Amino acid sequence: MDQIFIKGLEVFANHGVYKEEQEKGQKFLVNATLYFDTAKAGRSDELTDSVDYGKVCQLINDFMTQYRMNLLETIANRLARKILMAYPELEAVTLEIEKPQAPIPLPFDNVSVKIHRSWHTAFIAFGSNMGDRMAYINDAIANLKADMRCEVKKVSKFVESKPYGGVEQDNFYNGVLELRTLLEPKELLEFLQAEEKHAGRVRKEHWGPRTLDLDILYFDDMVIETDSLTIPHVDMQYRDFVLVPLNEIAPYKRHPLIGLTTKEMLRKLKDSYVTQK
Ligand code: ADP
Ligand code: MG
Repeated sequence: MDQIFIKGLEVFANHGVYKEEQEKGQKFLVNATLYFDTAKAGRSDELTDSVDYGKVCQLINDFMTQYRMNLLETIANRLARKILMAYPELEAVTLEIEKPQAPIPLPFDNVSVKIHRSWHTAFIAFGSNMGDRMAYINDAIANLKADMRCEVKKVSKFVESKPYGGVEQDNFYNGVLELRTLLEPKELLEFLQAEEKHAGRVRKEHWGPRTLDLDILYFDDMVIETDSLTIPHVDMQYRDFVLVPLNEIAPYKRHPLIGLTTKEMLRKLKDSYVTQK
């Protein structure tokens, strides 16, 4: 990926754990690497096809002088998100914030915090089989679209399917969407659970009816196994109501553990139905 560098941008601001630092202020130096595809600007020679680094510098300066924070870590994380939201054509940003006059009573050159943040691609399966099923799903999609940290890239058609797991209940509407997001996996899960709650979902029986179910299928090519989160989604390869819509929007996306594309997993699932009969 192409890169634009900003080096040693000097900002006078009032961050620090000590009261004196917040009152008097001091010098900070910011280094930023902006990752994006410069090919279009390379062809057109138009600033509108590139990222105006003058404006990025201004944004950094405004952000750092507008707020007072204790930690370089906080400034770096919030500022990185701010830059990525302001310039969605950027794929990622590396930010280093230096504090050469930090109150350390020993000889030193510099202290700094450096972070790398990027947009992620997640695939989310949605389903509903209670009440106004379409409305619950459409509301959730609208709320994702409205959030600055999310960009809904593709939404599959809704498929109607019989419930899974043997509990007597109405048919489901299911589908899959592709999301570009600045949220990290756990934050995304919390966001989706808040949406489920907003749709009035009450967790009773495990496979029971629900107004809205939002599951993370993939998060980039990450493999995650914690108490609250398993990615890729654990049963996705056995569910045609997941694979059929996923195949519509991402047929060649490869499962990071199984090693098969959506198309291949769907074929395998269909073959297994034939052998079972
Ligand atoms: P299910 O989706 O299997 O029908 P629930 O929606 O009730 O069940 O989710 C149960 C739990 O699954 C949630 O509390 C959540 O922490 C956990 N979970 C684990 N991995 C994921 C994932 N990839 N996406 C969504 N929830 C997940
Ligand atoms: Mg779920």
